[in-house]
Amino acid sequence: MSNTAQRANKLFVQTFGTTADDLYRAPGRVNLIGEHTDYNDGFVLPAAINFHTIIAVKQRDDDKFRAVSDAFPGKIHTWHFGHEGTTDPDDTWVKYLKGFTAAVCASGLPAKGMDLAVVSNVPLGAGLSSSAALELAFGTALNDASQLRLSPLAVAQMAQRGENQYVGCACGIMDQMISAMGEEEHALLIDCEDLDSEPVPIPESLSLIIVNSNVPRGLVDSEYNLRREQCEQVAEHFGVESLRHLDLRTLENAKEELPEVCYRRARHVLSENRRTQNAAHALEAGNIARLSELMAQSHQSMRDDFEITVPEIDKLVEIIDAVVGDRGGVRMTGGGLGGCVVALVDHDLTDAVVEAVERQYHTATGLEASVYLCSASQGASRQDEELY
Ligand code: ADP
Ligand code: MG
Repeated sequence: MSNTAQRANKLFVQTFGTTADDLYRAPGRVNLIGEHTDYNDGFVLPAAINFHTIIAVKQRDDDKFRAVSDAFPGKIHTWHFGHEGTTDPDDTWVKYLKGFTAAVCASGLPAKGMDLAVVSNVPLGAGLSSSAALELAFGTALNDASQLRLSPLAVAQMAQRGENQYVGCACGIMDQMISAMGEEEHALLIDCEDLDSEPVPIPESLSLIIVNSNVPRGLVDSEYNLRREQCEQVAEHFGVESLRHLDLRTLENAKEELPEVCYRRARHVLSENRRTQNAAHALEAGNIARLSELMAQSHQSMRDDFEITVPEIDKLVEIIDAVVGDRGGVRMTGGGLGGCVVALVDHDLTDAVVEAVERQYHTATGLEASVYLCSASQGASRQDEELY
Protein backbone atom coordinates (compact mmCIF):
# COMPACT_ATOMS: atom_id res chain seq x y z
CA MET A 1 0.00 0.00 0.00
CA SER A 2 1.31 3.44 -0.82
CA ASN A 3 2.36 5.69 1.99
CA THR A 4 -0.43 8.16 1.22
CA ALA A 5 -3.03 5.38 1.23
CA GLN A 6 -1.76 4.12 4.58
CA ARG A 7 -1.98 7.59 6.03
CA ALA A 8 -5.55 8.00 4.75
CA ASN A 9 -6.58 4.72 6.37
CA LYS A 10 -4.89 5.66 9.61
CA LEU A 11 -6.49 9.10 9.70
CA PHE A 12 -9.88 7.50 9.08
CA VAL A 13 -9.50 5.04 11.95
CA GLN A 14 -8.17 7.73 14.31
CA THR A 15 -11.06 10.05 13.46
CA PHE A 16 -14.03 7.72 13.22
CA GLY A 17 -12.95 4.77 15.38
CA THR A 18 -13.60 2.20 12.69
CA THR A 19 -11.99 1.12 9.41
CA ALA A 20 -12.84 2.59 6.02
CA ASP A 21 -14.58 0.53 3.33
CA ASP A 22 -12.78 1.91 0.31
CA LEU A 23 -9.99 4.14 -0.93
CA TYR A 24 -10.32 6.53 -3.85
CA ARG A 25 -7.52 8.32 -5.57
CA ALA A 26 -7.34 11.27 -7.96
CA PRO A 27 -4.28 12.96 -9.45
CA GLY A 28 -3.10 16.53 -9.72
CA ARG A 29 -2.24 17.78 -13.18
CA VAL A 30 0.06 19.87 -15.28
CA ASN A 31 -0.90 21.64 -18.48
CA LEU A 32 1.70 21.04 -21.19
CA ILE A 33 0.35 23.79 -23.45
CA GLY A 34 -2.90 25.69 -24.04
CA GLU A 35 -3.08 28.46 -21.43
CA HIS A 36 -6.16 30.61 -20.87
CA THR A 37 -7.77 28.81 -23.78
CA ASP A 38 -10.22 26.68 -21.81
CA TYR A 39 -12.69 29.42 -20.95
CA ASN A 40 -12.47 30.60 -24.56
CA ASP A 41 -13.79 27.21 -25.72
CA GLY A 42 -10.37 26.34 -27.11
CA PHE A 43 -7.80 23.54 -26.79
CA VAL A 44 -5.71 22.43 -23.82
CA LEU A 45 -3.17 19.63 -23.47
CA PRO A 46 -2.82 18.61 -19.81
CA ALA A 47 -1.45 15.43 -18.23
CA ALA A 48 -2.43 13.90 -14.89
CA ILE A 49 0.64 13.49 -12.68
CA ASN A 50 1.84 10.95 -10.15
CA PHE A 51 0.91 13.14 -7.18
CA HIS A 52 -2.42 12.14 -5.72
CA THR A 53 -5.15 12.87 -3.26
CA ILE A 54 -6.44 9.77 -1.51
CA ILE A 55 -9.72 9.55 0.35
CA ALA A 56 -10.62 6.73 2.71
CA VAL A 57 -14.42 6.44 2.84
CA LYS A 58 -17.21 4.59 4.54
CA GLN A 59 -20.76 4.93 3.36
CA ARG A 60 -23.44 5.98 5.87
CA ASP A 61 -27.10 5.04 6.01
CA ASP A 62 -28.22 8.64 6.41
CA ASP A 63 -27.52 11.78 4.36
CA LYS A 64 -24.75 13.09 6.59
CA PHE A 65 -21.17 13.81 5.55
CA ARG A 66 -18.25 13.96 7.98
CA ALA A 67 -14.89 14.92 6.55
CA VAL A 68 -11.34 15.40 7.81
CA SER A 69 -8.10 16.24 6.03
CA ASP A 70 -4.57 15.91 7.35
CA ALA A 71 -3.79 19.19 5.60
CA PHE A 72 -6.16 20.99 7.99
CA PRO A 73 -6.00 18.88 11.13
CA GLY A 74 -8.17 19.13 14.19
CA LYS A 75 -11.62 19.70 12.78
CA ILE A 76 -14.33 17.37 11.52
CA HIS A 77 -16.59 19.13 9.03
CA THR A 78 -20.19 18.02 8.93
CA TRP A 79 -23.07 18.71 6.54
CA HIS A 80 -26.18 17.07 5.13
CA PHE A 81 -26.80 16.27 1.50
CA GLY A 82 -28.75 19.10 -0.11
CA HIS A 83 -28.25 21.32 2.94
CA GLU A 84 -24.81 22.71 2.19
CA GLY A 85 -25.79 26.25 3.14
CA THR A 86 -23.72 29.06 1.72
CA THR A 87 -19.93 29.15 1.91
CA ASP A 88 -18.58 30.86 4.98
CA PRO A 89 -14.99 31.59 5.97
CA ASP A 90 -15.08 28.70 8.43
CA ASP A 91 -15.66 26.24 5.61
CA THR A 92 -12.16 26.56 4.17
CA TRP A 93 -11.29 23.41 2.25
CA VAL A 94 -14.55 21.54 2.73
CA LYS A 95 -16.31 23.93 0.35
CA TYR A 96 -14.93 21.86 -2.54
CA LEU A 97 -16.76 18.79 -1.23
CA LYS A 98 -19.94 20.69 -0.36
CA GLY A 99 -19.85 22.21 -3.83
CA PHE A 100 -19.90 18.71 -5.27
CA THR A 101 -22.82 17.48 -3.19
CA ALA A 102 -24.71 20.72 -3.87
CA ALA A 103 -24.21 20.20 -7.62
CA VAL A 104 -25.39 16.58 -7.39
CA CYS A 105 -28.48 17.68 -5.47
CA ALA A 106 -29.18 20.53 -7.92
CA SER A 107 -29.16 18.07 -10.79
CA GLY A 108 -31.89 16.04 -9.07
CA LEU A 109 -29.81 12.99 -8.14
CA PRO A 110 -30.10 11.40 -4.68
CA ALA A 111 -27.01 10.56 -2.64
CA LYS A 112 -26.20 8.98 0.70
CA GLY A 113 -23.77 10.39 3.20
CA MET A 114 -20.19 9.25 3.85
CA ASP A 115 -17.49 9.53 6.46
CA LEU A 116 -14.19 10.38 4.84
CA ALA A 117 -10.53 11.12 5.53
CA VAL A 118 -8.37 12.99 3.02
CA VAL A 119 -4.60 12.73 2.61
CA SER A 120 -2.68 14.13 -0.33
CA ASN A 121 0.82 14.55 -1.67
CA VAL A 122 -0.25 17.13 -4.24
CA PRO A 123 1.21 20.41 -2.97
CA LEU A 124 -1.65 22.74 -2.07
CA GLY A 125 -1.92 26.00 -3.98
CA ALA A 126 1.16 25.29 -6.09
CA GLY A 127 -0.73 25.27 -9.37
CA LEU A 128 -0.87 21.48 -9.69
CA SER A 129 -4.60 21.49 -9.04
CA SER A 130 -4.86 19.95 -5.62
CA SER A 131 -8.41 21.34 -5.63
CA ALA A 132 -9.48 19.26 -8.63
CA ALA A 133 -7.72 16.20 -7.18
CA LEU A 134 -9.75 16.66 -3.99
CA GLU A 135 -13.01 17.12 -5.89
CA LEU A 136 -12.43 14.16 -8.17
CA ALA A 137 -11.36 11.75 -5.44
CA PHE A 138 -14.48 12.72 -3.50
CA GLY A 139 -16.76 12.80 -6.55
CA THR A 140 -15.60 9.39 -7.74
CA ALA A 141 -16.18 7.95 -4.27
CA LEU A 142 -19.68 9.45 -4.04
CA ASN A 143 -20.49 8.32 -7.58
CA ASP A 144 -19.73 4.72 -6.60
CA ALA A 145 -21.16 4.72 -3.10
CA SER A 146 -24.47 6.29 -4.13
CA GLN A 147 -24.55 4.53 -7.50
CA LEU A 148 -25.01 7.76 -9.40
CA ARG A 149 -23.73 6.04 -12.57
CA LEU A 150 -21.99 9.15 -13.80
CA SER A 151 -19.22 8.77 -16.40
CA PRO A 152 -15.78 10.18 -15.45
CA LEU A 153 -16.56 13.16 -17.69
CA ALA A 154 -19.89 13.72 -15.92
CA VAL A 155 -18.16 13.57 -12.52
CA ALA A 156 -15.72 16.20 -13.79
CA GLN A 157 -18.58 18.41 -14.98
CA MET A 158 -20.34 18.02 -11.64
CA ALA A 159 -17.14 19.12 -9.88
CA GLN A 160 -16.81 22.13 -12.16
CA ARG A 161 -20.42 23.07 -11.52
CA GLY A 162 -19.77 22.86 -7.77
CA GLU A 163 -16.77 25.13 -8.08
CA ASN A 164 -18.57 27.61 -10.32
CA GLN A 165 -21.83 27.79 -8.41
CA TYR A 166 -20.95 26.97 -4.83
CA VAL A 167 -17.28 27.81 -4.30
CA GLY A 168 -17.67 30.87 -6.52
CA CYS A 169 -14.65 30.23 -8.72
CA ALA A 170 -15.23 30.69 -12.45
CA CYS A 171 -12.85 27.89 -13.42
CA GLY A 172 -12.91 26.09 -16.76
CA ILE A 173 -13.27 22.31 -17.13
CA MET A 174 -9.61 21.40 -17.70
CA ASP A 175 -8.48 20.57 -14.17
CA GLN A 176 -11.44 18.37 -13.34
CA MET A 177 -11.47 16.65 -16.69
CA ILE A 178 -7.82 15.64 -16.69
CA SER A 179 -7.98 14.50 -13.06
CA ALA A 180 -10.94 12.31 -14.07
CA MET A 181 -9.70 11.05 -17.41
CA GLY A 182 -5.89 11.09 -17.45
CA GLU A 183 -4.05 8.08 -18.84
CA GLU A 184 -0.64 6.73 -17.95
CA GLU A 185 2.12 8.05 -20.21
CA HIS A 186 -0.36 10.20 -22.11
CA ALA A 187 -1.47 13.79 -22.22
CA LEU A 188 -5.07 14.56 -23.12
CA LEU A 189 -5.94 16.93 -25.95
CA ILE A 190 -9.23 18.47 -24.84
CA ASP A 191 -11.49 20.50 -27.05
CA CYS A 192 -13.16 22.70 -24.46
CA GLU A 193 -16.00 23.58 -26.79
CA ASP A 194 -17.60 20.13 -27.02
CA LEU A 195 -15.42 18.36 -24.41
CA ASP A 196 -14.14 15.90 -26.95
CA SER A 197 -10.82 14.48 -25.83
CA GLU A 198 -8.06 12.39 -27.28
CA PRO A 199 -5.12 10.76 -25.44
CA VAL A 200 -1.77 11.78 -26.88
CA PRO A 201 1.23 9.56 -26.08
CA ILE A 202 4.20 11.26 -24.44
CA PRO A 203 7.36 9.84 -26.04
CA GLU A 204 9.20 7.45 -23.74
CA SER A 205 12.41 9.41 -24.22
CA LEU A 206 11.02 12.45 -22.36
CA SER A 207 11.01 13.36 -18.67
CA LEU A 208 8.23 15.52 -17.31
CA ILE A 209 9.62 18.12 -14.93
CA ILE A 210 7.64 20.73 -13.04
CA VAL A 211 9.40 23.55 -11.25
CA ASN A 212 7.52 25.76 -8.83
CA SER A 213 8.92 29.29 -8.87
CA ASN A 214 7.57 29.86 -5.35
CA VAL A 215 6.83 33.45 -6.30
CA PRO A 216 4.28 34.80 -3.81
CA ARG A 217 1.08 35.12 -5.81
CA GLY A 218 -0.96 38.30 -5.44
CA LEU A 219 -3.72 39.76 -7.61
CA VAL A 220 -4.21 36.39 -9.29
CA ASP A 221 -8.02 36.38 -9.17
CA SER A 222 -8.50 39.96 -10.29
CA GLU A 223 -6.03 39.60 -13.17
CA TYR A 224 -7.65 36.31 -14.21
CA ASN A 225 -11.07 37.92 -14.26
CA LEU A 226 -9.71 40.89 -16.18
CA ARG A 227 -8.26 38.58 -18.86
CA ARG A 228 -11.57 36.78 -19.13
CA GLU A 229 -13.39 40.08 -19.59
CA GLN A 230 -10.94 41.24 -22.26
CA CYS A 231 -11.41 37.99 -24.18
CA GLU A 232 -15.20 38.31 -23.90
CA GLN A 233 -15.00 41.89 -25.09
CA VAL A 234 -13.22 40.84 -28.28
CA ALA A 235 -15.68 37.99 -28.89
CA GLU A 236 -18.52 40.45 -28.45
CA HIS A 237 -16.92 42.91 -30.85
CA PHE A 238 -16.95 40.27 -33.58
CA GLY A 239 -20.40 38.98 -32.63
CA VAL A 240 -19.17 35.47 -31.86
CA GLU A 241 -20.00 33.40 -28.82
CA SER A 242 -16.38 32.85 -27.88
CA LEU A 243 -12.89 33.39 -29.27
CA ARG A 244 -13.02 29.83 -30.59
CA HIS A 245 -15.13 31.16 -33.44
CA LEU A 246 -12.68 33.83 -34.49
CA ASP A 247 -9.71 33.24 -36.77
CA LEU A 248 -6.37 35.01 -36.71
CA ARG A 249 -6.82 36.65 -40.10
CA THR A 250 -10.15 38.26 -39.13
CA LEU A 251 -8.56 39.48 -35.93
CA GLU A 252 -5.56 40.94 -37.78
CA ASN A 253 -7.76 42.69 -40.33
CA ALA A 254 -9.80 44.37 -37.63
CA LYS A 255 -6.86 45.14 -35.36
CA GLU A 256 -7.42 48.93 -35.48
CA GLU A 257 -11.00 48.58 -34.24
CA LEU A 258 -9.89 47.12 -30.92
CA PRO A 259 -8.08 48.51 -27.91
CA GLU A 260 -4.47 47.41 -28.45
CA VAL A 261 -4.38 45.37 -25.25
CA CYS A 262 -7.53 43.42 -26.19
CA TYR A 263 -6.08 42.69 -29.61
CA ARG A 264 -3.00 41.16 -27.97
CA ARG A 265 -5.06 39.13 -25.52
CA ALA A 266 -7.07 37.65 -28.37
CA ARG A 267 -3.94 37.06 -30.44
CA HIS A 268 -2.56 34.96 -27.59
CA VAL A 269 -5.68 32.84 -27.34
CA LEU A 270 -6.04 32.24 -31.08
CA SER A 271 -2.37 31.46 -31.65
CA GLU A 272 -2.27 29.31 -28.50
CA ASN A 273 -5.14 27.18 -29.82
CA ARG A 274 -3.17 26.51 -32.95
CA ARG A 275 0.04 25.78 -31.03
CA THR A 276 -1.78 23.37 -28.74
CA GLN A 277 -3.12 21.30 -31.61
CA ASN A 278 0.29 21.39 -33.28
CA ALA A 279 2.01 20.34 -30.05
CA ALA A 280 -0.29 17.31 -29.84
CA HIS A 281 0.76 16.36 -33.36
CA ALA A 282 4.43 16.94 -32.54
CA LEU A 283 4.20 14.70 -29.45
CA GLU A 284 2.41 12.02 -31.40
CA ALA A 285 5.10 12.13 -34.09
CA GLY A 286 7.93 12.26 -31.54
CA ASN A 287 9.06 15.54 -33.09
CA ILE A 288 10.77 17.04 -30.04
CA ALA A 289 12.40 19.95 -31.88
CA ARG A 290 8.96 21.11 -33.03
CA LEU A 291 7.53 20.66 -29.53
CA SER A 292 10.41 22.74 -28.20
CA GLU A 293 9.62 25.55 -30.63
CA LEU A 294 5.90 25.52 -29.85
CA MET A 295 6.43 25.61 -26.09
CA ALA A 296 8.89 28.51 -26.51
CA GLN A 297 6.37 30.42 -28.64
CA SER A 298 3.66 29.73 -26.09
CA HIS A 299 5.81 31.19 -23.35
CA GLN A 300 6.60 34.31 -25.36
CA SER A 301 2.93 34.78 -26.13
CA MET A 302 2.01 34.51 -22.44
CA ARG A 303 4.78 36.96 -21.61
CA ASP A 304 4.23 39.60 -24.31
CA ASP A 305 0.60 39.28 -25.45
CA PHE A 306 -1.24 37.93 -22.43
CA GLU A 307 1.15 39.44 -19.88
CA ILE A 308 0.77 36.77 -17.23
CA THR A 309 4.40 35.87 -16.60
CA VAL A 310 6.64 37.49 -13.99
CA PRO A 311 10.43 38.05 -14.18
CA GLU A 312 11.21 35.08 -11.90
CA ILE A 313 9.20 32.74 -14.14
CA ASP A 314 10.85 34.14 -17.27
CA LYS A 315 14.22 33.53 -15.61
CA LEU A 316 13.37 29.90 -14.80
CA VAL A 317 12.35 29.30 -18.40
CA GLU A 318 15.56 30.93 -19.61
CA ILE A 319 17.71 28.78 -17.27
CA ILE A 320 16.07 25.54 -18.38
CA ASP A 321 15.95 26.47 -22.06
CA ALA A 322 19.68 27.14 -22.04
CA VAL A 323 20.30 23.54 -20.92
CA VAL A 324 17.69 21.87 -23.08
CA GLY A 325 17.78 23.66 -26.44
CA ASP A 326 15.76 21.74 -29.00
CA ARG A 327 15.97 18.48 -27.03
CA GLY A 328 12.88 19.43 -25.07
CA GLY A 329 10.45 22.21 -24.36
CA VAL A 330 9.81 24.54 -21.44
CA ARG A 331 7.16 27.13 -20.63
CA MET A 332 5.17 28.61 -17.80
CA THR A 333 2.12 26.51 -16.97
CA GLY A 334 -1.08 27.45 -15.17
CA GLY A 335 -2.93 30.70 -14.71
CA GLY A 336 0.24 32.75 -14.30
CA LEU A 337 1.65 35.59 -12.20
CA GLY A 338 3.84 33.07 -10.44
CA GLY A 339 3.26 29.35 -10.16
CA CYS A 340 5.09 26.68 -12.11
CA VAL A 341 7.12 26.02 -15.19
CA VAL A 342 6.71 22.74 -17.09
CA ALA A 343 9.49 21.10 -19.05
CA LEU A 344 9.44 18.00 -21.24
CA VAL A 345 13.06 17.06 -21.76
CA ASP A 346 15.23 14.22 -22.97
CA HIS A 347 15.89 11.87 -20.00
CA ASP A 348 19.62 12.44 -20.36
CA LEU A 349 19.14 16.12 -19.54
CA THR A 350 17.09 15.74 -16.36
CA ASP A 351 20.02 15.99 -13.95
CA ALA A 352 21.50 18.94 -15.82
CA VAL A 353 18.16 20.79 -15.67
CA VAL A 354 17.80 20.21 -11.94
CA GLU A 355 21.40 21.30 -11.33
CA ALA A 356 21.04 24.43 -13.44
CA VAL A 357 17.89 25.44 -11.53
CA GLU A 358 19.57 24.79 -8.19
CA ARG A 359 22.69 26.70 -9.17
CA GLN A 360 21.18 29.72 -10.91
CA TYR A 361 17.61 30.40 -9.79
CA HIS A 362 18.29 31.41 -6.21
CA THR A 363 21.20 33.64 -7.19
CA ALA A 364 19.10 35.37 -9.83
CA THR A 365 15.90 35.83 -7.82
CA GLY A 366 16.56 35.21 -4.13
CA LEU A 367 13.90 32.47 -4.19
CA GLU A 368 14.19 28.70 -3.83
CA ALA A 369 12.48 26.66 -6.53
CA SER A 370 10.78 23.31 -5.86
CA VAL A 371 11.38 20.63 -8.46
CA TYR A 372 8.90 17.80 -9.10
CA LEU A 373 9.99 14.92 -11.30
CA CYS A 374 6.73 13.55 -12.65
CA SER A 375 5.22 10.99 -14.89
CA ALA A 376 1.88 11.09 -16.67
CA SER A 377 -0.57 9.13 -14.63
CA GLN A 378 -4.02 7.55 -14.63
CA GLY A 379 -7.15 9.52 -13.73
CA ALA A 380 -9.38 9.12 -10.67
CA SER A 381 -10.16 5.59 -9.60
CA ARG A 382 -11.03 3.29 -6.76
CA GLN A 383 -8.08 1.59 -5.12
CA ASP A 384 -9.54 -1.73 -4.04
CA GLU A 385 -6.23 -3.54 -3.89
CA GLU A 386 -4.78 -0.95 -1.55
CA LEU A 387 -7.06 -1.27 1.46
CA TYR A 388 -5.57 -4.32 3.08
P1 ADP B 1 -4.29 24.32 -6.51
O1 ADP B 1 -5.55 23.69 -7.03
O2 ADP B 1 -3.45 24.88 -7.60
O3 ADP B 1 -3.51 23.45 -5.61
P2 ADP B 1 -6.21 26.01 -5.25
O4 ADP B 1 -6.11 27.28 -4.48
O5 ADP B 1 -7.12 25.96 -6.42
O6 ADP B 1 -4.74 25.60 -5.65
O7 ADP B 1 -6.67 24.84 -4.29
C1 ADP B 1 -6.06 24.66 -3.04
C2 ADP B 1 -7.13 24.48 -2.00
O8 ADP B 1 -7.81 23.23 -2.24
C3 ADP B 1 -6.60 24.37 -0.60
O9 ADP B 1 -6.41 25.63 -0.01
C4 ADP B 1 -7.70 23.59 0.08
O10 ADP B 1 -8.79 24.42 0.38
C5 ADP B 1 -8.14 22.62 -1.01
N1 ADP B 1 -7.41 21.35 -0.92
C6 ADP B 1 -6.62 20.82 -1.85
N2 ADP B 1 -6.10 19.63 -1.41
C7 ADP B 1 -6.58 19.43 -0.19
C8 ADP B 1 -6.42 18.41 0.79
N3 ADP B 1 -5.64 17.37 0.60
N4 ADP B 1 -7.08 18.55 1.96
C9 ADP B 1 -7.87 19.60 2.17
N5 ADP B 1 -8.05 20.58 1.30
C10 ADP B 1 -7.42 20.53 0.13
MG1 MG C 1 -7.12 24.68 -8.06
